[in-house]
Amino acid sequence: MEGLMQDWPLLVHTVLDHASTYHGDREIVSRTVEGPIHRYTYKDLNARSKQLASVVEKLGIKHGDVIGTMAWNGYRHMEVWYGLMGVGAIAHTLNPRLFAEQLDYIINHAEDKAFFLDLTFVPILEAIQDKLPTIETFVIMTDEDHMPDTSLRNATCYETLIADGDPEFAWPRLDENTACGMCYTSGTTGNPKGVVYSHRSNVLHALSSCAGDAVALKSTDAIMPVVPMFHANAWSFVYSSPMCGAKMVMPGPLMDGASIYELLETEKVTLTAAVPTIWLMLLQHLEETKAPLPHLERVVIGGSACPPAMIEAFEKNYGTDVIHAWGMTEMSPLGTLCTFKGGLDHLSEDELWEIKKKQGRPPYSVEMKITGDDGNELPRDGVAFGNLKVRGPAVARAYFKNEGGEILDEDGFFDTGDVSTLDEYGYMNITDRSKDVIKSGGEWISSIDLENLAVAHPDVAEAAVIGIAHPKWDERPLLICVLKEGTSPSKEDIIEFMTGKIAKWWMPDDVAFIDEIPHTATGKISKLTLRETFKDYELPTVQAAE
Ligand code: AMP
Repeated sequence: MEGLMQDWPLLVHTVLDHASTYHGDREIVSRTVEGPIHRYTYKDLNARSKQLASVVEKLGIKHGDVIGTMAWNGYRHMEVWYGLMGVGAIAHTLNPRLFAEQLDYIINHAEDKAFFLDLTFVPILEAIQDKLPTIETFVIMTDEDHMPDTSLRNATCYETLIADGDPEFAWPRLDENTACGMCYTSGTTGNPKGVVYSHRSNVLHALSSCAGDAVALKSTDAIMPVVPMFHANAWSFVYSSPMCGAKMVMPGPLMDGASIYELLETEKVTLTAAVPTIWLMLLQHLEETKAPLPHLERVVIGGSACPPAMIEAFEKNYGTDVIHAWGMTEMSPLGTLCTFKGGLDHLSEDELWEIKKKQGRPPYSVEMKITGDDGNELPRDGVAFGNLKVRGPAVARAYFKNEGGEILDEDGFFDTGDVSTLDEYGYMNITDRSKDVIKSGGEWISSIDLENLAVAHPDVAEAAVIGIAHPKWDERPLLICVLKEGTSPSKEDIIEFMTGKIAKWWMPDDVAFIDEIPHTATGKISKLTLRETFKDYELPTVQAAE
């Protein structure tokens, strides 16, 4: 027997209809590329997204076309997403921090038909447009007054384009499995691969991220996604915030500590989200200025491991609750969030702190397990660690154009490439990226654990640990540190600080100091670059072993 409920497709633009009807006057505040702060409401966002949707045909854009975007978090970028997705086109976000060759490859592979860009990125696209034959039109997301003198092909002014659009445009009825978004993930081997989101996967993912034990969004929140829209859907906030009717604050191009602080304060932001490097800058700014953080209730930190020292700084110094989160582009991206669940009352404060540091537990709709190299599932005891595999309606089942071939195991699980533990309460803790784990004498050392410990040293601003070849042990850890300004601890000081806090054989064999840790386009420590820089590095322990 079939159920007798309505066939109501899960379409992302229905989120906008909802926000506009029930939270129509809630604000979206954006720092613009042109400079000023721009304010309007969900009603305006809805109307202007429809204006765009009603005119894209003029650019030859139709159902199924892939359209590139390169833009900061801002109101026009949201309009472009909703306007394109609403007519069945696919918004393909490009990360401006990628190298020109990567951008060429990705845009050509995706066959972007048109391209929407912020003023900031005109020079980037001008420099590579000759290698991008599929793009027919470049739409510059600004008004006539700010249109640059540009060589971009068929350069079109966004405001002029949508001026005659229909704010009452009726969205076409689409199948919920229609593709709506695309984001390439770089991985470390082979070419970048395209992850293709559907309306259904994005709506389900947004619903589960709103849940009380996940991000717990409310219409009374003021949410600032600092995580860019070009990095895995801005962790769904572009969908989940309107779904809940929260005020949105979009930081645009400025993400330094002072600019982020200014918006947190003036807009009374209650919830924000980004990778640890952003929060490092904010915390440094707060330390320098001795400024308070009275409105911010919670901060979601993910994308790479959040050092416990950062959690402590937010919670103890500012009373801001940290939600450590883990995920990946292939998962839309949220996989786990660390919030306390019911039934933990018997745990001591120390035991709860051990949980707090973990990456968290999956919301409904994410299944996970860890397996050994033989593929057999490992116990959920918080000790055994293995390959982390996931399954769910917002997890990729293949890459665009089937790059990389079959990516699921026989039970439909996707191997994340991360190594983790799972504990008896369901909390997951990332040990390492499988390729970054240090293999010493047949045992594994977690580079993340060592980094977390090193940054707890009061003089260390940022730390990275890589494995260096060793004749006896195969690999041994090298700790690379960036020091806080005006400090100069010795290698021995750092080693002494770490001594006794980890197993002796985990201790780094050496400490190197550098001015800046290299980061990838998505803000992670670039271990690839560090391994390259330190490829000829000889550990002091090597001579001793020879
Ligand atoms: P991306 O697809 O660029 O978002 O990268 C996903 C990868 O980032 C994951 O597979 C992890 O290796 C890493 N990652 C994301 N969040 C965390 C976290 N909270 N702790 C440790 N690693 C993380």
